[in-house]
Amino acid sequence: MESLRKDFPILDQQVHGHPLVYLDNAATSQKPRAVIEALSRFYENDNANVHRGIHELSRRATEAFEGARDRVAKFINARASSEIIFTRGTTEGINLVANTWGVKNLKAGDTIVLTEMEHHSNIVPWQLLAARCGAKLAYLPVTGDDGLLDLSGLDGLLHDQSVKLFAFTHVSNTLGTINPVAELCAKARRRNIITLVDAAQSAGHRPVDVQEIGCDFLAFSGHKMCGPSGIGVLYGRHELLGDMPPFQGGGDMIANVDFFASTWKDAPHKFEAGTPNFADAVGLHAAMDYLAAIGLDKIARHDQELSAYAYERLSRLRGIRLFGPKKERSGVVSFLLNNVHAHDVVTVADQRGVALRGGHHCNQPLMKKLGVESTARASFYFYNTAGEVDRLIEVLTEIQKFFGE
Ligand code: PMP
Repeated sequence: MESLRKDFPILDQQVHGHPLVYLDNAATSQKPRAVIEALSRFYENDNANVHRGIHELSRRATEAFEGARDRVAKFINARASSEIIFTRGTTEGINLVANTWGVKNLKAGDTIVLTEMEHHSNIVPWQLLAARCGAKLAYLPVTGDDGLLDLSGLDGLLHDQSVKLFAFTHVSNTLGTINPVAELCAKARRRNIITLVDAAQSAGHRPVDVQEIGCDFLAFSGHKMCGPSGIGVLYGRHELLGDMPPFQGGGDMIANVDFFASTWKDAPHKFEAGTPNFADAVGLHAAMDYLAAIGLDKIARHDQELSAYAYERLSRLRGIRLFGPKKERSGVVSFLLNNVHAHDVVTVADQRGVALRGGHHCNQPLMKKLGVESTARASFYFYNTAGEVDRLIEVLTEIQKFFGE
């Protein structure tokens, strides 16, 4: 995998006089030259607005945009391209479901089940919806420092007739937990409960197959999987999309507009009002081709091996608290050093060229559950190396000495 580093021009630089060690991949990944070049090729040759013009460039741009949709369908094994809606990212995908399917189907007294490890973007949209329609929220707990979902109460929770939706993350962005998403979806399906999977941390990091998972909705972001920022995907099962009202109104999503009423196109265009982010969809297409050529299984194995190595080396440091599962974890490791605030760890590491993240990682409720305000987080992708983990340990050891551990 180390040989792939040459595909990422950004990695080859010094930061504050040290070689860059980029360990903030859970926030956003870096982009290979193949994606950067696909974007400039598109802007240099084919750029025009999609679906509207009948000139050659518009035809090419439309073909490229719809080709990207077909590529996404193949990437996540959707049954049809019409199940793929382009969004700005995971957050917009979840808000779309809350504001369309949610507004139409949820009423006072209904329950939305989430888990305690959800990112704010899979909590707040449901809180807004619940406040609007009178639904309630319930949470599947996370077990102590192991950071696994406590499945013992799940059957009881889903048994409640009022539960209409179960939304959960595939991989935790703080704990590195990989959830048994197919099992969770199967349990929900037996009770006719609709499922939404937040795949922000899994898409591009491991194979994501919507038919195998058996979910109704699945959302992810292009920027965390080598694609451009500002483009994401919402998968929705065909049978559900047909009955859902539009998300936003405007150009491109209509069949016919009158002064006082309008009709809509079918999915997915019904959900894509206005000029879509077609250029970045082309970039995402290139990213998916790039990742598929490496192999998603291989990427997952590398994430997992590097994370296991990091976990093992970190656990040997004195005065460290590690979060999340001890094994079977994704490429995310959260930790706290005794007597050193996470922000100080990240600030000093940055001075040594090591990019980490410190904070609540948009997981404030989880932080409260863990009894901390923040953690420091290292997150890996396939271009990270064991040597970079060694450098991280070296820097953390130096930080501990400096802060007198
Ligand atoms: N869910 C999870 C698990 C995430 O890690 C993130 C990004 N940190 C999101 C949702 C939101 O993704 P975006 O900001 O790209 O919409």
